[in-house]
Amino acid sequence: MKKQQLAIVTGGASGIGLAIAESFTKNKIRTIIIGRDKKKLQSAKKKLGNYCEPISFDLTNLKEVPNLIKYIIKNFGYIDILVNNAGINQKKEFTEVTDEEFSNIIQTNLQSVFSISREVVKKMILKKNGVIINISSMASQYGIPKVIAYTASKSAIEGMTRAMAVELSPKGIRINCIAPGFIETEMSAKALNNDPERKNKVLGRTPLGYLGEPKDIATTALFLVSDAAKYITGAVLPVDGGNSIGF
Ligand code: NDP
Repeated sequence: MKKQQLAIVTGGASGIGLAIAESFTKNKIRTIIIGRDKKKLQSAKKKLGNYCEPISFDLTNLKEVPNLIKYIIKNFGYIDILVNNAGINQKKEFTEVTDEEFSNIIQTNLQSVFSISREVVKKMILKKNGVIINISSMASQYGIPKVIAYTASKSAIEGMTRAMAVELSPKGIRINCIAPGFIETEMSAKALNNDPERKNKVLGRTPLGYLGEPKDIATTALFLVSDAAKYITGAVLPVDGGNSIGF
């Protein structure tokens, strides 16, 4: 019988992360979801059931990340899968973005991904086994105005995916990145709902002609962590209705 797998999904209480956590728990992967908002975590736990373990933690608290991973190992055992999904966005004119805002986005979307991956990889290396999925964005496929810090963070995620893959795949760890197109969540609603011009632009260059659902990313994540993807590492996979190649 296959051993029980353990996954961590950051930002797993809402949007894309929740859909990924749902696809994992439905497939009997015990899944730890991490976020700051305890209420959101509790309602996700209620929806996902026994295979879901919520942990409230602010990922920008980098100093505490090693203790978080120690706690998880002690209480739940070996970590097989890490999905670095948590992220924030801000739509603001280039000249209006403060240094604090820029740093906050980099800290959340990039530095925390490095810190948590480093701590998890230290454990994965011991068993020469593990899968990591990073989440980038269309903002790293082409230029999008008014999202400077977000673009910087997500472009770095793609580079980091490749650097991690070449260094860590020989140690038994596969690292891939999903680049979602425009997916219906709270985050995209904030960016698009009061901006019909931007929304039309998005849809106009999406050959499939509609926004994606969180489930579209979840099914891809499930594939990438499965043995069906055992020869895939270092890939950046757009799941975008064709948006990244749209005219
Ligand atoms: P949501 O806003 O629904 O989800 C983001 C999640 O990240 C929340 O659950 C939030 O939980 C968590 N999070 C944010 N900051 C922190 C923090 N400091 N510590 C812990 N958790 C944190 O957005 P989406 O589901 O849309 O986005 C998920 C990922 O997909 C992001 O990385 C985003 O950039 C990416 N993406 C989304 C696209 C879209 O169209 N929706 C397109 C391309 C990429 P809490 O607030 O409780 O901390």
